Amino acid sequence: MRSEDSLRGKHAVVTGGVRGIGLGIATLLADRGLRVSIVSRSAHHSGHERFFRAECDVTNESQVDSALTACRAANGPIAVLVNNSGIAESAPLTRTSFEMWQQILATNLTGTFLCTRAVVEDMIVAKWGRIVNVASTAALGGARYLGAYCASKHGVLGFTRAIADEFVGTGITVNALCPGYTETDMMRKALANITRHTGAGEDAARAHLAQSNPLGRIATIEEVAEAAFDLMNGSRNGVGVVIPGGTIV
Ligand code: NDP
Repeated sequence: MRSEDSLRGKHAVVTGGVRGIGLGIATLLADRGLRVSIVSRSAHHSGHERFFRAECDVTNESQVDSALTACRAANGPIAVLVNNSGIAESAPLTRTSFEMWQQILATNLTGTFLCTRAVVEDMIVAKWGRIVNVASTAALGGARYLGAYCASKHGVLGFTRAIADEFVGTGITVNALCPGYTETDMMRKALANITRHTGAGEDAARAHLAQSNPLGRIATIEEVAEAAFDLMNGSRNGVGVVIPGGTIV
């Protein structure tokens, strides 16, 4: 049996699976034979009929629990969780409002905690599970004007390592992906911000983002999705994988 056959037929939940990196991961998993549920605030309006869709704000504990109960009722016990929902805002520290700070931490970090806690019982019962948290290169170092985002993603990587350690030897693995800038709406918003604030043209702004990526270019959704699949498909535990490049931290 090829190792990827062990994932076929399993139920995977992808948060934020309606667009961007989440949609790329959900599509790749469905193409490789997994049953896929997606959850996000707009999941019911997405038109992605090949997935089971449940509406949920990952910052809301009761919405997370009900959405994941609905996913389970539709597709069975949850074997794979991809915590991908996320938001990014940039601002200098003095213009970072309490609300912005709270919203970024709540979505990127607390949402990861709530969804992980809500699915892990299924994995404990099955003695098998794969959790992939979409962190960022912002989990590994600082970046100007991204204090809240960097704090949230450092938190995701720390949470990943702690939970990975907690479940050692149980058949459950917990790992993080650390992509650099990737071609999605979130990256296009960052581009627009740079051009607005610096007056740089789009090509110059793009080059600026690309040079901050580990391989000096913008990553594609497809390569991030492949890296997520690789992490689920193996037995590595408690690592962060930098994309593109595949370096392990
Ligand atoms: P997008 O903005 O394209 O998509 C974000 C997704 O998150 C959407 O599906 C959105 O759905 C969902 N989401 C946002 N807030 C919530 C919420 N409160 N509850 C539930 N779902 C929510 O972003 P990307 O695809 O670019 O980003 C995906 C992940 O990858 C994020 O965690 C991001 O931090 C990370 N990342 C992205 C990089 C990039 O350059 N693009 C680089 C490194 C990491 P909805 O609006 O329907 O709720």
